[in-house]
This record gives sequence, C-alpha cells and structure tokens, in this order.
Amino acid sequence: MSRKIENLEDDVVIRNGKGIQVSYQMHCTMIDGSVANILTGTNASSNCFICHAKPTEMNVTNFTKVPIANHYKYGLSTLHAWIRCFECLLHIAYRLTFKCWQVRKENKDAFSANKVRIQNEFRTRLGLIVDQVKTGFGTTNDGNTARKFFSNAEVASEITGINKELIQNFSIILRLISCGMRINIDAFRELLIRTRTMYLTEYEWYYMPSSVHKILMHGCEVIEYFDLPIGNFSEEALEALHKHIRIVRYDHTRKTAREHTNRDLMSYLTISSDPEVVFKRSAIPNKNAVYTMDELEEYLVDAEET
Ligand SMILES: [Zn+2]
Repeated sequence: MSRKIENLEDDVVIRNGKGIQVSYQMHCTMIDGSVANILTGTNASSNCFICHAKPTEMNVTNFTKVPIANHYKYGLSTLHAWIRCFECLLHIAYRLTFKCWQVRKENKDAFSANKVRIQNEFRTRLGLIVDQVKTGFGTTNDGNTARKFFSNAEVASEITGINKELIQNFSIILRLISCGMRINIDAFRELLIRTRTMYLTEYEWYYMPSSVHKILMHGCEVIEYFDLPIGNFSEEALEALHKHIRIVRYDHTRKTAREHTNRDLMSYLTISSDPEVVFKRSAIPNKNAVYTMDELEEYLVDAEET
C-alpha cells in the first residue's frame, strides 16, 4: 500500500487556459480517537495517544510527560473535538453540586437531578436534546448540538453553571481549528495555556478527557506539523460522505457479490475525487460548517502575509 502511495503521479488540470499541477500527500487524519489509539498502540481510550498520559495525570499543573512527535501526524480530529469538549463541560455541570469525578452512591441522586434539570432547560431554552441515547446511533450529542452549545455561551453558562469565559474560550479554539485558515501559533499557544489554567483553577477535580487534553496540551505542535491549516484535515469530509456512500451503493453498484459491490463503490468514489471531476462539480456549501469569525481575527495569520 505504501509503495502504491509513493508511486502516485501528479495530475495536471487545465483551468481557464492555465495548467494546475496537483500532487498528492497522504495524511491519516480522518479518524476518531479509537482509531488513533489502535494506530499508536495506546491501550486505554482514556489515555492520551500523543504522550500516553493517564486521566489522573491530565490535570497536573506542571505537566512533564514527553510527547511522541511521530504521533502528531494523526491530527486533531477536529469534528469529534466539538462533541468531546461539549460533553466534557456537560459532565462537569452534572457534578457541580458535589465536585467529584467519580459519582459515588451518596451523590447518585444529585447527579441524576442535575442531569434532568440541565436536559430540560436545554430543551426549553435552546431547543436542544442533550445526552439522550438514540437506539443504534449512540447519543443525541452530535456536531450540530455542540456547535449550538458553543455559539450560545451565555445561555449555556446560565444553564450549566460553567464559567462563561471558559465556554467562550473553547468556542474560539474549536472554531480556529475548524475554519481552515492559518493560525497565529504564538497567540493560539497563549489562548490554550489561558484556557487550561482556567479549567484547572475551577474544575481540577474533573479529570480532563484525553481529547480535550490533546487540544490544550499538544494543539500547537500538531498544527505546526502540517503544511496546510489544520481545519483542512478534519474528518468532516469523511463523515459527510456517509450519506453519499449509501446512495452510490444503492444506485450505482452491482449486488451480485459483496466484492463486486465494494469494487464498484470504490471505483465510483475514485472517479468522483478526480481533480478534473471535482472542478466540474458545483460546490454545495455546508451551512452547518460555517463558523462565525467574531473574535477569531487576532488568532489568525493575515491572508496577505501567507
Ligand atoms: Zn498528551
């Protein structure tokens, strides 16, 4: 497989009388945490796959674990990052009355009462169905729910009791890593440190999930590893393809054998990703992926400088 990748030839596409040379570089970033854990030999999903820190080591103020630079290549899984950060704040909110990571027997009632109150308030005030199990689909916490939560920081803070500034900081960080523009690393590093310090000051008792730790601790190094803005490596394209694959599989593949179906599907996807075809296809803007640029300018590199 790696030999085939090495032998990929450049494409030349003619656009408006000008030739554009397209060369290929493969990056394995369209993955979620569980795939990254397998690829990096991380034996527990709660551990960080970059520095192998355990949950109990995540909230240490003077963090000394050495990151493995070779693991930066798996990216930040920016789409899942929205959901993981949202769930982290939500789970802190459920525990705010007793401030303990582990829900002990004596705290179970308080936990359930907080959860029900927060879920009801999200439904009435923002129309969001939060943390409900969907049969066969995980939970209702998806990218859209998370985006709505972070874009309404004030209401979200009133409902959850979480520091509004912390929600806003997470909102800025998530929009920056998703927007597909170049990030000013110095300003971003300072924002990450400020956010982590704020988190540890108020919620040190809740072990930071590995996906949140990964962004706050290793975000800058992962961004610097790639030549293009980190937003371009999002697994959003893959997730958006699920529907497309379903339609192609149904309408354009032979059903004579599973092998035939997969072969036809792969051929169709290869053709549809050809640069010549991509240029001819009109882009359909994804309204959910449009992020407001408020407060982001100071963390972005000027387009003229790049
Ligand atoms: Zn780490």
